Amino acid sequence: MKTYDVVVVGAGAAGMMCAFVAAQRGRRVLLLEKSKQVGRKILMSGGGRCNFTNMYTEPDNFLSQNPHFCKSALSQYTQWDFIALVDKHKIPYHEKTLGQLFCDNKSRDIVQLLLTECERGGVTIETKTRITRIKQQGAGFKVETDDKVITCESLVVATGGLSIPSMGATGFGYHVAQQFGLKNLETRAALVPFVMDKAWLKQYIELAGVSQDVVASTDSRSFREAMLFTHKGVSGPSILQISSYWQPGESVKIDLLPDMDLAQWLIEQKEAQPNSQLKTVIAKLLSKRFATIILQQVDAGRKLADFTNKQLNEIAQTLHQWTIKPTTTEGYKTAEVTLGGVDTDALSSKTMMSKDIPGLFFIGEVVDVTGHLGGFNFQWAWSSGYVAGMNA
Ligand SMILES: Cc1cc2nc3c(=O)[nH]c(=O)nc-3n(C[C@H](O)[C@H](O)[C@H](O)COP(=O)(O)OP(=O)(O)OC[C@H]3O[C@@H](n4cnc5c(N)ncnc54)[C@H](O)[C@@H]3O)c2cc1C
Repeated sequence: MKTYDVVVVGAGAAGMMCAFVAAQRGRRVLLLEKSKQVGRKILMSGGGRCNFTNMYTEPDNFLSQNPHFCKSALSQYTQWDFIALVDKHKIPYHEKTLGQLFCDNKSRDIVQLLLTECERGGVTIETKTRITRIKQQGAGFKVETDDKVITCESLVVATGGLSIPSMGATGFGYHVAQQFGLKNLETRAALVPFVMDKAWLKQYIELAGVSQDVVASTDSRSFREAMLFTHKGVSGPSILQISSYWQPGESVKIDLLPDMDLAQWLIEQKEAQPNSQLKTVIAKLLSKRFATIILQQVDAGRKLADFTNKQLNEIAQTLHQWTIKPTTTEGYKTAEVTLGGVDTDALSSKTMMSKDIPGLFFIGEVVDVTGHLGGFNFQWAWSSGYVAGMNA
């Protein structure tokens, strides 16, 4: 039987952060990971360059049944704190767009940072470990693995969500929550491409690979970023973002030309060049293939002079309010994150500890706090991991 002050389950972003913070406070920390490598999602993140935070992180960038819950952790450990840590490790990085900070080199730099800090604190890391049982024992916990029994005062669950099962994502954290009587909120794949039905694909599949800067909206939210046609439907940052707000059965409105008053512009074009074909004029704004397909019903080969201003207005509306009705999403197989999870009502926002089970903490993606695309999910992992590390 081995004894530690803190056992952290899951060596991802949140777990490694929590482990080194607790260890550097003088706690004896054991970090248990079921796969053979730590930080696997960090390694694959940001296209291999890890978008490790966002300079404009605000509570409004997170979804949760309780939108206030994330505020305390985010203010106790901010994006600037993590950027200072990255600077301390002399990791080169750059802003790609919209405050998103990416490594110049490889995501491995961030994993190495976390490993170095764990080493400084003297964290014991054990990979390829399967936990078979967890029990409350006295004022702490007994954790059984395939080959040993560990006791600890504090137990931190940092096992992530359900996205990318091929990388070993499991519902382990939700089962632990359930075992100890904490409520789990329904989970759903988020930051995920949409799948369209056969009829839609027949019409648009030849656009696979075409990208367009758009505003994608549901009733509750809008995102201005690129949209990408795929062989299954649509993807790209604006679609991934809006997928977190989309409910099955809902439509998504897409403004294909967000920065302009298209109706006004078409009327001006008609006056300036009445003999130009509509599709030639629209092709200045959209790719020619896209323009041809989307304007199929209006015979876009006709001259501008042949359209009344009312018709041009209607065409403008079609392009400003193009509507799609996704059949479903690509699901956990490709989703970047999981919505829902351990109900924040059961946790203290100041410490991430269970309100009812002293010493039991939940951090990172397993909790019902989900960030937008753009480095916010890692910032939540750092902030919630730090807070638990300071209190475990
Ligand atoms: C392809 C992809 C790209 C992404 N890119 C970005 C990005 O650039 N920026 C960003 O902010 N977010 C990104 N994300 C989201 C981000 O990776 C996650 O939100 C973040 O990793 C969550 O951290 P976590 O520590 O809570 O969980 P995870 O990183 O998932 O870590 C959980 C760990 O627990 C381990 N584990 C699970 N079950 C057990 C068990 N029973 N026993 C022991 N260990 C267990 C897992 O193996 C894993 O190592 C991306 C996600 C994906 C899938």
